[in-house]
Amino acid sequence: MTQGKINVTSENIFPIIKKFLYSDHEIFLRELVSNAVDATQKLKVLASKGEFKGYLGDLTIRVKADKEAKTITVSDNGIGMTAEEIEKYINQIAFSGAEEFVEKYKDDANAIIGHFGLGFYSSFMVSKKVEIKTLSYKENAKAARWECDGSPEYTLEESDRTERGTDIVLHIDDDSQEFLEDYKINDLLKKYCKFLPIEIGFGKETEWKDGKSTETGKDKIINNTKPAWTVPPADLKDEDYKKFYKELYPNVYEEPLFHIHLNVDYPFNLTGILYFPKIRTNVEMSKNKIQLYQRQVFVTDSVEGIVPDFLTLMHGILDSPDIPLNVSRSYLQSDHNVKKISSHITKKVSDRLKEIFTNDREQLEKKWDDLKLFIEYGMLTDEKFEEKAEKFFLLKNLDGKYFTLEEYENLIKTSQTDKHGNTICLYTNDKEHQYSFIDAAKAKGYDVLVLDGQLDSHFINKLETKMSKLKFSRVDAEVIEKLIEKEDGFESKLSKDEETNLTPVFRSRLPEDGTFFVQFEPMSETSNPVVITQNEFMRRMKDMSQFGGETSFYGTLPDSYNMVINSNHPMIAKISSDVQTKLGSQLADIQKEIATLKADQDALDKLREGKKEEEISHEEKEKGNELEAKIGVAEDKRDGILTAYGKESKLVKQLIDLGLLSKNLLKGEALSAFVKRSVELIEA
Ligand code: ADP
Repeated sequence: MTQGKINVTSENIFPIIKKFLYSDHEIFLRELVSNAVDATQKLKVLASKGEFKGYLGDLTIRVKADKEAKTITVSDNGIGMTAEEIEKYINQIAFSGAEEFVEKYKDDANAIIGHFGLGFYSSFMVSKKVEIKTLSYKENAKAARWECDGSPEYTLEESDRTERGTDIVLHIDDDSQEFLEDYKINDLLKKYCKFLPIEIGFGKETEWKDGKSTETGKDKIINNTKPAWTVPPADLKDEDYKKFYKELYPNVYEEPLFHIHLNVDYPFNLTGILYFPKIRTNVEMSKNKIQLYQRQVFVTDSVEGIVPDFLTLMHGILDSPDIPLNVSRSYLQSDHNVKKISSHITKKVSDRLKEIFTNDREQLEKKWDDLKLFIEYGMLTDEKFEEKAEKFFLLKNLDGKYFTLEEYENLIKTSQTDKHGNTICLYTNDKEHQYSFIDAAKAKGYDVLVLDGQLDSHFINKLETKMSKLKFSRVDAEVIEKLIEKEDGFESKLSKDEETNLTPVFRSRLPEDGTFFVQFEPMSETSNPVVITQNEFMRRMKDMSQFGGETSFYGTLPDSYNMVINSNHPMIAKISSDVQTKLGSQLADIQKEIATLKADQDALDKLREGKKEEEISHEEKEKGNELEAKIGVAEDKRDGILTAYGKESKLVKQLIDLGLLSKNLLKGEALSAFVKRSVELIEA
């Protein structure tokens, strides 16, 4: 029996390991099982080369917990170790600069473990004593037993073990007893080891016998040793990919849309399967489902910084021995290989979509609505992806037809280019609410797109900045005549004075909530008398603000609307002439007064023309102010009379309510009043 001191520069590294690696204690099991897998695979390789001629036998790795003895044992039938090998691989670990490193990365267990090749020593995070019982595959090797209680002192002695392979026995520390629970071990094995390439048994299969469940002699295997990504794509069918998806995400109900099987061996090694999931409503909720493996050992399911942000929306797994997984996250993000891998995946993803677009556009169209959010997110956040995706990005119109950007521009260019040369894409995000506007657009022969996704506002904003002659406008952004302005507009049948009179009439009956601006627009006589529109820019900024970022200021503003009055509608003409009949004589004097005052004001303005502020005489200024005040008083008087008229006019209120109603803004008490008034008006 030898006794020795483990070769560490630090007096005692184990307390440090224990103290600092608290958050990741659980990885000890991953490390021990991985070692067992390595030892088993090495033996298989030796056997295949003929260097090991013995009997391979049952190679199952077994994990056992003994609650009474308070031990966890990991057993393998791999190559085992001789005493010399234990001396070399376990005792003499290079710990140069250990303390500083541990201090620096104290919150990142993976980094420390990776740095020191500390795999085996991670067992001291949960153990007060660790034993190795092992017999090497080598001919005439002597069995060895090593034991260490967490101080640098260890014992190494011969033993009488007769089976090849290694048992690692952990005597679990008092403060880590939870790891002795079956469910805990099962969880850890399922998390880290479920795709390891050698069978791992934990517990025994049970069967139903004589009315109770009884253990059989068969190991319960917790892992799938041949997960789909390790199988050549040619050997897999669509169902296999779907089955594997279920295996990865037992709780996800929906099937994925498409998959990509990655298989790269130059200039780096990367395998994996990525799935395009259905994402309809919320981008944030769907993030971080990709799992990262290193040679089939689970490492992490947070791939932020490793793949471009939008790809974190994908599901699936990535496996690479070239990603330095046992280092800190910040190191990982700046790693050269990681960057290459990341741009490679982006390219693969866009290539795959392009391929589906070219070879099976029908498929793409069928699944587009579930895919769009993902693609938009990619185009908004990743330039390289955007460049490629422009070719296969699809727009859907109200008839459910899909177009590429180029196709769509060609479709609408002739009919939807305005007098300034801009091509206007009309869209709706709610065809029920915007029905009357859609109807008006259709009557004009315009096409209407459906853009109702979470990122659509951001997306069209981006398109507009890129393509200066292409504009997007929601169908209710303007009255139809102004939505796409053409040369041959309508002449107004109302004079300026008539419009001035009608403004306070209508303003007197505006709804209380929301901000409304009254304006007049010459439209077709058959268009509605009052149309409520919502300025595209303001509305879009407000929509975008829901996603945070620079536009969030707009989110704080109230909704604002334009109340557009059709100056050519017979009803409006009727109200205007009624105002004239009833109030004409009352208004005439005031109007005359205003006209005279304004003429004086014009004359004064003429005198002041070209003069600097300081050249204007005091009297002139006084005069100006006086005129202005007088005009104000006269106008207030005029507007007062018109407001009183408006307040009494059922017709005015009715027309406003009809406008509100067709934009779905008439609710509650206002709606009920509208219905009552309608009945009265019909009866009259
Ligand atoms: P790493 O696995 O990164 O080399 P470890 O500290 O986990 O670092 O293991 C050190 C060495 O001990 C391994 O490289 C291997 O040679 C040996 N070893 C550990 N566990 C076993 C085992 N179960 N069977 C045979 N050899 C083992």
